[in-house]
Amino acid sequence: MSHIPYGRQSISEADIAAVVEVLRSDWLTQGPAVERFERAVAEYCGAPHATAACNATMALHVVYLGLGLGPGDLLWTSPITFVATANAARACGADIDFVDVEAGTWNMSPRALAQKLERAAAEGRLPKIVAPVHLAGQSCDMRAIAELSWRYGFRVVEDAAHAIGGTYQNEPVGSCRYSDAAVFSFHPVKVITTAEGGMVLTRSPDLQRRMQLLRTHGITRDPAAMRHKPDGPWYYEQLELGFNYRMTDMQAALGLSQLKRLETFITRRHQLADRYDAALHGLPLSLPRRPTESRSALHLYIVHVRPESPFSRQDLFARLRTAGIGVNVHYIPVYRQPYYEALGFRRDDFPEAERYYAGALSLPLFPALEEAQQDKVVAVVRDAFRAAERNLQ
Ligand SMILES: *Cc1c(COP(=O)(O)O)cnc(C)c1O
Repeated sequence: MSHIPYGRQSISEADIAAVVEVLRSDWLTQGPAVERFERAVAEYCGAPHATAACNATMALHVVYLGLGLGPGDLLWTSPITFVATANAARACGADIDFVDVEAGTWNMSPRALAQKLERAAAEGRLPKIVAPVHLAGQSCDMRAIAELSWRYGFRVVEDAAHAIGGTYQNEPVGSCRYSDAAVFSFHPVKVITTAEGGMVLTRSPDLQRRMQLLRTHGITRDPAAMRHKPDGPWYYEQLELGFNYRMTDMQAALGLSQLKRLETFITRRHQLADRYDAALHGLPLSLPRRPTESRSALHLYIVHVRPESPFSRQDLFARLRTAGIGVNVHYIPVYRQPYYEALGFRRDDFPEAERYYAGALSLPLFPALEEAQQDKVVAVVRDAFRAAERNLQ
């Protein structure tokens, strides 16, 4: 591969065989493989319930709806996320606000959250849901966020799209010890893939029931849940407005096969990150902080070009792209998107997010990245630094 992408799926022969087996079976759409995949992820995470969905965006939609988010309600999230975290709340008709991030992990700052909650309580406009995002696979400080939720009475939904395979306080992300639910994405650039796909983990049987209903048109076939006596064996009832957000059995089979490889993937990501850490040490870059009370899933390796650097993030980005290295920026702060700007957000309300955005750069990191390729990435970064130093002299 001459072009090195920033992220890429890793598909084995066993993965392919698992999908082909489903193609030869009776079920293509949601069937026994989806149930097996849900049980396997639930078991892996140590949460009792899992609901698979066609992607994480729709998974966020059903969990928000399942928690009763609607018009007039407020959801707060991090501005440093993919737009889906906020969009799914807008799709519920809810209003959005953002909580600034903390330097280092660039996750939602519990301190900023506490201050914003205090002001919101005084104004009588508290959020119904707070959705922290585990950026790059590094868990947020969930205990601190949970403590605030007990005090102010909001629900917590973890956007864990980057974080399957990560841990927090020695428990898997997705255990939901400090949240109402956690959502994974299985998009190909994420840690494991089902092509498109997502899953919600929860400890709440009520939320689980509601999500299962919403995922399939709001329809139940369970006589115990019905309003009327069944007309016959064909009978089903639609109890509320739902959707078709189902995952297919082909996707679930791929997911089950990938799940077996998850530990290997995470180990490899950490090896490569250790190599980056060592090779990039001493440059005017802040390297990802990996606090010891948690294990990052390392979906991304994000460096931050420091303000005192002799080269800009723009220069570094251009040099790497010219060299065939698919670097990227995760993310443009959501409030900068014209759609959100039109809702009245102002950049100076989020100074840390702005600082992050000015310097952030995602370097290639995925299990199949070869060390020679990684060395090439490092060489281009080091060359950029040397060229900038020469220009200064
Ligand atoms: C990828 C991603 C999503 C959406 O996931 P899809 O499965 O592509 O819908 C949501 N939030 C974050 C933080 C993501 O990175």
